[in-house]
Amino acid sequence: TMSDAELSGFVRDVPDYPNDGIMFKDITGLLVDPKALSEAVERLAALVPDDVDLVSGMEARGFIVGAALAFRLGVGFVPVRKAGKLPPPTRSLTYGLEYGEATVEIREGTVPAGARVMLVDDVLATGGTAAAGAELLEQLGAEVVGLAFLLELEGLGGRERLAGRSVSTVLLAG
Ligand code: 5GP
Repeated sequence: TMSDAELSGFVRDVPDYPNDGIMFKDITGLLVDPKALSEAVERLAALVPDDVDLVSGMEARGFIVGAALAFRLGVGFVPVRKAGKLPPPTRSLTYGLEYGEATVEIREGTVPAGARVMLVDDVLATGGTAAAGAELLEQLGAEVVGLAFLLELEGLGGRERLAGRSVSTVLLAG
């Protein structure tokens, strides 16, 4: 096992990416290191309630951590994709961004009604992405039993945006 500081050391700060004034957290160094990847997935697994039926993950880095987590738990994986990537039939949900809007989609028929779903992503920032994913899963009849993130960026309102939901994170970044 690794300390929080050790695991955090695999996350790189990239200033002014993708836009000026943004401090981007790059997790590719964590993914490429076998011990850090294993530690991250085991820590995520420890955040999942008993008896989940499925893991779902947000495109694109949520696919990486989500599929690893699903394999670790022995359950299936449902991708929440950006618009226009999935063949029909799909269900979609459009949500507001700081500038403009975005649409997420799930293949209809992949989530059985009443399924207990754990939703994951790499980073929680404002919470808009994960809120949309959770809402869409619920529209398809899922019960979203929790949301888990590798890294929570504090001070961006993510927790508030996801108020009322069970949110847990592996690492915090101030
Ligand atoms: P939110 O919707 O919470 O504002 O943003 C979270 C989404 O944007 C996630 O899908 C996440 O992958 C991506 N994201 C936002 N900021 C960062 C960041 O600093 N690093 C990484 N790796 N992803 C980010």
